[in-house]
Amino acid sequence: MCALKLRMENNNLSKLDKIVSLTKRRGFVFQGSEIYGGFAGMYDYGHHGVALRQNIVNAWMRTMRMHGKMAFLDSSIFTSPKVWEASGHVSGFNDPLVVCFSCHSKLRADHLLESVDVQADEKMSETELNELFDTNREKLKCPVCGKKNFGKVVQKNLLATSTLGKFEEEDEEAYLRGETAQGIFINFKNVLNTGFYNVPFGIAQVGKVFRNEISPRQFLFRKREFEQMEMQYFVHPRDAEKAYEDWKKERMQYYIDLGIKKENLRWKQHEHLVFYARDAWDIQYKYPFGWDELEGVHNRGDYDLTQHQKFSGVDFRVMDEETKERYIPYVVETSAGLDRTILAVLAESYDEDEMNGEKRVVLRLKPSIAPIKAAVFPLMRNKPELVKKAEEVFGALKKEIPEIMWDDNGNIGKRYRRQDEIGTPNCVTIDFETLENDSVTVRDRDTGKQERVSVKELTTKLR
Ligand code: ATP
Repeated sequence: MCALKLRMENNNLSKLDKIVSLTKRRGFVFQGSEIYGGFAGMYDYGHHGVALRQNIVNAWMRTMRMHGKMAFLDSSIFTSPKVWEASGHVSGFNDPLVVCFSCHSKLRADHLLESVDVQADEKMSETELNELFDTNREKLKCPVCGKKNFGKVVQKNLLATSTLGKFEEEDEEAYLRGETAQGIFINFKNVLNTGFYNVPFGIAQVGKVFRNEISPRQFLFRKREFEQMEMQYFVHPRDAEKAYEDWKKERMQYYIDLGIKKENLRWKQHEHLVFYARDAWDIQYKYPFGWDELEGVHNRGDYDLTQHQKFSGVDFRVMDEETKERYIPYVVETSAGLDRTILAVLAESYDEDEMNGEKRVVLRLKPSIAPIKAAVFPLMRNKPELVKKAEEVFGALKKEIPEIMWDDNGNIGKRYRRQDEIGTPNCVTIDFETLENDSVTVRDRDTGKQERVSVKELTTKLR
């Protein structure tokens, strides 16, 4: 895209719109089912999005491993419907819906109330929310059509259902999982019985989750199919509070280590606790549209294992080695949204500045999570001797650092702009001097400074 067009386009867009536009043109994220007009709450990750996502997952798995005594799991998306009855999701996993009778938009009642500064949240009862709605009816306007013509607030269940395995009318519908945590609880005994772990220990997994969100919005923030990185830490009840505080510290540090500034992160305690929680705090990020949840850290007590013990008849108690008493462990849960982390990292690193008199967009991603670590280009693509040498350098380098990219499209300035937008920390150019003394230029994304480096030292320099 030419610089002028980009500048004109960028001047009129909000930061979120700019991120959406950048991630599409540079192959990070595409709208789901775009050729058919899109499908609400769905996004597809492209080449660079997949790499960024994987780097964030890898960083998360590393912090989990570093905690010690951590088992990993990949449980199935479909489970017995009993899992969701036992967990309380069938009866209690709801969001409040209100319909605008004028334009038929379906809206989150709590979000609408919050938009006029009325304190509300999704855990309030229908009665509480309807009362708040009635008292504030005059102030409330539909964000889509501007009218004030609403129905009653009703709580809607978020679990998505499917006909998997349903062949007769009377066969039950299966739920797609609404959180990865339940897969962990139902496998608690299996992991314990491997003999590698005893309480305290954690089980961690990354996986897809499905929720019938009433109004998916704000790009990757509220999707209907998204990914969670969840960890359940099983601990003796007397040690739960200490474990909870330790995990809170570790989880905040994770985002700082991803390159997010401290001032854009904060803690927020839940006022209305969800049915399973004894205490709950959210790590919030300052998204382009305001502060909102990035990760939930919850003390779930013994709620889930007790419920599954009751519904399945399996004994989930473990032995306290000190007192020889049997008890059901408490669970400290850290529940991070992968898509929201990707959005936070993109928002944090998105920047516009001027380099060599030209405006540019740059993703200042931390090199450890950047999808591409270095781009390699021949100065000119119509000079066979340069291309040959560049191919040689690229071929050797990719064996050492596979996350590199060949780029010979357009002039050198265009290539720099393109790589800046992908967040590539370094660009390596093979020029005529390379043919003479086997050195290349390495250009730094953030400063634009170029340095001559001998090909022999290139891998070390880039690392
Ligand atoms: P919210 O209040 O924003 O709906 P939640 O409290 O229901 O979120 P949790 O059930 O605690 O969310 O899920 C854990 C994490 O999963 C959240 O902190 C968030 O990062 C992520 N998450 C939840 N819902 C969505 C969604 N619809 N789209 C993307 N990520 C989500």
